[in-house]
Amino acid sequence: MKWVRPGHPEYDETRRLFNAMIDRRPAVIAPCADPEGVAEALAYAKTHGLDVAVRAGGHSVAGMSMNNGGLVIDVRPMKSARVDPEARTATVGAGLTCGEFDRATQEYGLAITGGRVSTTGLAGFTLGGGSGWLERAFGFACDDLVSVDLVTAGGEQVTASAQENPELF
Ligand SMILES: Cc1cc2nc3c(=O)[nH]c(=O)nc-3n(C[C@H](O)[C@H](O)[C@H](O)COP(=O)(O)OP(=O)(O)OC[C@H]3O[C@@H](n4cnc5c(N)ncnc54)[C@H](O)[C@@H]3O)c2cc1C
Repeated sequence: MKWVRPGHPEYDETRRLFNAMIDRRPAVIAPCADPEGVAEALAYAKTHGLDVAVRAGGHSVAGMSMNNGGLVIDVRPMKSARVDPEARTATVGAGLTCGEFDRATQEYGLAITGGRVSTTGLAGFTLGGGSGWLERAFGFACDDLVSVDLVTAGGEQVTASAQENPELF
């Protein structure tokens, strides 16, 4: 894990949010490239008694994805995007922005209800419901969510869908 702490050359850039009025200084930022990295970061936070925030696109106006003195899980390195045009589904990493998602799906003439600003994180957007230009015809972004592979606060990797762990989904 590349831990980003105060004094690290990428510290200020990594903690910057869309709302520049939020100026928080976490003790450590963990850029996570895979679920194992997320689990490692959570274990570190537990060992050191640190509060945890999760940061994707950084568009939370209230700054929910950044903290003071805690650990921030930065999911932006998870940028994978795989589109299955026959199933009309996409499997994407938690770090994708709405714009990056659109680029991947538009190649096949497919779309979901996306955000009005392309730099919004797709995960944070969808977790919040996801309201956009296509919603009157196709519903919110969360209506198109099929399944999520996630890491629980306890560090366990689980899948949540209508069939698997439906209460979590
Ligand atoms: C300029 C602007 C325009 C906007 N336009 C729209 C719009 O058109 N439609 C709309 O619906 N909303 C809109 N929003 C609101 C935006 O969609 C939400 O704030 C959304 O939660 C931002 O997601 P993010 O990943 O960019 O932000 P972040 O700040 O990174 O994350 C937002 C929240 O989601 C949590 N989170 C993110 N990723 C994960 C993850 N992988 N696992 C667990 N928790 C996670 C974070 O901890 C945080 O609490 C807009 C916001 C801004 C600033």
